[in-house]
Amino acid sequence: MSDSLYDVVIVGGGIVGLATAYEITLRAPGLSVVVLEAEDRLAAHQSGHNSGVIHSGLYYKPNSLKARYCTEGREAMYRFCREYGIAHERCGKVVVATRNEELPVLEELKRRGQANGLRGIRLLDPAELRDHEPHVAGIVGLFVPDTGIADYPAVVRRLAELTNAAGSEVRLSTRLLSCDRRQGALTLTTSQGEVRCRFLINCAGLQSDRIAQCCGVRPDVQITPFRGEYYQLVPQRRHLVRNLIYPVPDPRFPFLGVHFTRMVHGEVEAGPNAVLALKREGYRHRDVSVRDIGQMVCYPGFWNMVKRYWKTGMAELYRSLSKQAFLRALQRLVPELRSQDIHPAGAGVRAQALARDGSLVDDFRILAAPQMVHVLNAPSPAATASLRIAQAIVDLVASHADCPSPRLTRTSIRKAI
Ligand SMILES: Cc1cc2nc3c(=O)[nH]c(=O)nc-3n(C[C@H](O)[C@H](O)[C@H](O)COP(=O)(O)OP(=O)(O)OC[C@H]3O[C@@H](n4cnc5c(N)ncnc54)[C@H](O)[C@@H]3O)c2cc1C
Repeated sequence: MSDSLYDVVIVGGGIVGLATAYEITLRAPGLSVVVLEAEDRLAAHQSGHNSGVIHSGLYYKPNSLKARYCTEGREAMYRFCREYGIAHERCGKVVVATRNEELPVLEELKRRGQANGLRGIRLLDPAELRDHEPHVAGIVGLFVPDTGIADYPAVVRRLAELTNAAGSEVRLSTRLLSCDRRQGALTLTTSQGEVRCRFLINCAGLQSDRIAQCCGVRPDVQITPFRGEYYQLVPQRRHLVRNLIYPVPDPRFPFLGVHFTRMVHGEVEAGPNAVLALKREGYRHRDVSVRDIGQMVCYPGFWNMVKRYWKTGMAELYRSLSKQAFLRALQRLVPELRSQDIHPAGAGVRAQALARDGSLVDDFRILAAPQMVHVLNAPSPAATASLRIAQAIVDLVASHADCPSPRLTRTSIRKAI
């Protein structure tokens, strides 16, 4: 049991939690901040299991939080990587239409991209498309020069180092179990004992709705885990992909469709699909949690989602179980790809908020409560946008009646952002 009273406790050692800790140390050096991470390492979940793409901001509804935070966060992420020597590249990407029916969606993406301030995006005819990606088959492409790739686990490690160097603590293997209000402070019970604080910020990703509930907040959404499975190209066939090749997405879903991504260390990944997982941290088909399934099926939003999207869900499941079906989706973009060119390469699980009406919450969602801020929906592009999301979180803390320090108000002196 500790009797120290910390100014701020952040739950979650992913990219959003650590970017937030870093933002606080920039604005108010000396404020006592502790990051609690349940696992024995940082970036153990979404932040360490993603596609490594710095998204441009192409897809998102103009003026949505995703559109604003992604475009601003993208540039902040490029600057951060440059400043701290983290592997990254602004390599650009192509979105490829392979059927006439996809052309209106591609045109709409171009309009959205322009509305979101992206420079240099342009449609490509098949010959221009092949200049960018010689092995792609498509009828029209959309070139997006501001998309890039980064080593996000290295970003998380660097954020933790900077946070530690500024006097804050990052405690691994420390899971938040419960939270009580006593004498104006929050008393947190963790797997390593009690921690007291004046303010709590919940950045717990796949567990964020449960953390909110254990803090006495009733979120109007439930986290639903969607696994994204990857294949990797064998080294001899990596030349089939120069940079990033995406299909035209289905505009009804927040997922982008299986695509090719060249990673910063040279591998080429293909994926991810989007399959309902039977466990929140369920990286394999055989990972099942009775508690997670029970909670899922007791939530009306789950059945409303099933009613709306069961056909797409079944198609995704089929593609998850059949390598041939996955390959066919990839061959629409790169017809030369053969079954022996790809092998399974792990998975990530998205923390996707689901509303009671069965809709997948599209935008980021951050909720303020007395002495607390809860991040309830931070799916892709939250890695790209993390430094900007952190600013928004700390702005919310600063505008809060229970703000632990007036110094958290944003100043014009900014280091990395
Ligand atoms: C397959 C996939 C591909 C993606 N691709 C991209 C991409 O290319 N570009 C992009 O910008 N975004 C991408 N994303 C999204 C991005 O990875 C996430 O939006 C981002 O990592 C979210 O960060 P986070 O810190 O909120 O969550 P997380 O990284 O999941 O961190 C939450 C942390 O909270 C911890 N935690 C949970 N419960 C507790 C507790 N009780 N006590 C203490 N700690 C707890 C967890 O252990 C975890 O480490 C992708 C995501 C997935 C899954």
